[in-house]
Amino acid sequence: MQPLYDVIIVGGGPAGCATAIALHNLGVSNTLVIEASDYTAPRIGESIPPDSRQLLEKLGIWDAFTAQKHAPCLGSYSSWGSDQLGFNDYLFNPQGHGWHLNRASFDKFLALQLQKRGGALLKNTHFASLIRDKHAYPIKVTLRNNAELRCRFIVDASGRSAKVARQFDAKANIEDQLVAVSAYFDASNISSANSYRQMTLLEAVDYGWWYLAHLPNKQVIVTVATDPATIQQKQLKSSVHWQQAMQQTLHIKPIINQAAPSRLHTWVAQSAIMDPPAAEHWLAVGDAASSFDPISSQGIYKALNNGIDAAAAITDWLNDDAQTINQYRNSVASNFIQYLGQKAYFYNEEQRWPQSAFWQKRQQPPP
Ligand SMILES: Cc1cc2nc3c(=O)[nH]c(=O)nc-3n(C[C@H](O)[C@H](O)[C@H](O)COP(=O)(O)OP(=O)(O)OC[C@H]3O[C@@H](n4cnc5c(N)ncnc54)[C@H](O)[C@@H]3O)c2cc1C
Repeated sequence: MQPLYDVIIVGGGPAGCATAIALHNLGVSNTLVIEASDYTAPRIGESIPPDSRQLLEKLGIWDAFTAQKHAPCLGSYSSWGSDQLGFNDYLFNPQGHGWHLNRASFDKFLALQLQKRGGALLKNTHFASLIRDKHAYPIKVTLRNNAELRCRFIVDASGRSAKVARQFDAKANIEDQLVAVSAYFDASNISSANSYRQMTLLEAVDYGWWYLAHLPNKQVIVTVATDPATIQQKQLKSSVHWQQAMQQTLHIKPIINQAAPSRLHTWVAQSAIMDPPAAEHWLAVGDAASSFDPISSQGIYKALNNGIDAAAAITDWLNDDAQTINQYRNSVASNFIQYLGQKAYFYNEEQRWPQSAFWQKRQQPPP
């Protein structure tokens, strides 16, 4: 006999955990989160904006979050549109400062909050495939270990890989192909990094941009983001070439100086939207529904927000009202269109390299 759930959520990152917590808060407790990892491997995405507080409050986990003592983020320095560093702080934000998260412990914290509410979560468990049939619980899920489960509704929270949505033949519309390559440094080897401890630093270059941020575990992350062709041409996945390129930056180089990086990590950082992001018996949340350029620092905020909205839509659907799922689908699409407008505005602020293919592409009006 296969175990039966009202809702199965594939992926226990910010989007999946937020969906599950919000479902529990709405009284939908026969749910299961399937998570491939054990939350020990490094995860990317560390800065969240001050407005995240409202979402953590809505989820009922704000007090527990503050007890985690993630480092405050007071804003950012950027060389964008000019060689000079500009300063953009959160001083006048009514919500206060943002945070530099320790990502692995933040995701683990969300999973723990779910379990404290009685939510079921299977770690080290991989979703493999699904079929739909005429059973009262019509989605049959098969795990990589061949175990089978059934549910009435399934949520894709598997991140950019969107493993569930693809099984329903949804297609990702990719708006740009950004790739990021990061290295981690030991902060104790970087004396001048202290002046940036509570800030992020962004520097535009002719082929893309660089980013430096402090991580709470005494590490500094430095990332370059550009098009796949430039990654290849400049060999930015090779440590030697990555460091040579970093040594040519104006503002990042003097901070990092000669410190030795860890091995490099490559991340897909494209802007994309799933078409459709929801249909009968399923929906996608977080990066599985739409993914943003990391420059927006909106990925985790969007994941939590999607989770809250999705839980309301699924609860209505379980009570025979499919209308809210349509509203959810429309809101994912309209938020993506709004994001494309903001992205074009931001990239248009940099006009120093009119001949650069990287900048030309991103300075077109959004489709
Ligand atoms: C270079 C870079 C920098 C970024 N910086 C920031 C930042 O500063 N601030 C910010 O807000 N965002 C940032 N982001 C974006 C942010 O990382 C994502 O938007 C966020 O992690 C999305 O959360 P999610 O829960 O949708 O997906 P994910 O965090 O990707 O979680 C997906 C989960 O699904 C699990 N999973 C995958 N496949 C399976 C499977 N088959 N079975 C079971 N589980 C599975 C994974 O293990 C994972 O736990 C950055 C992204 C990049 C690439």
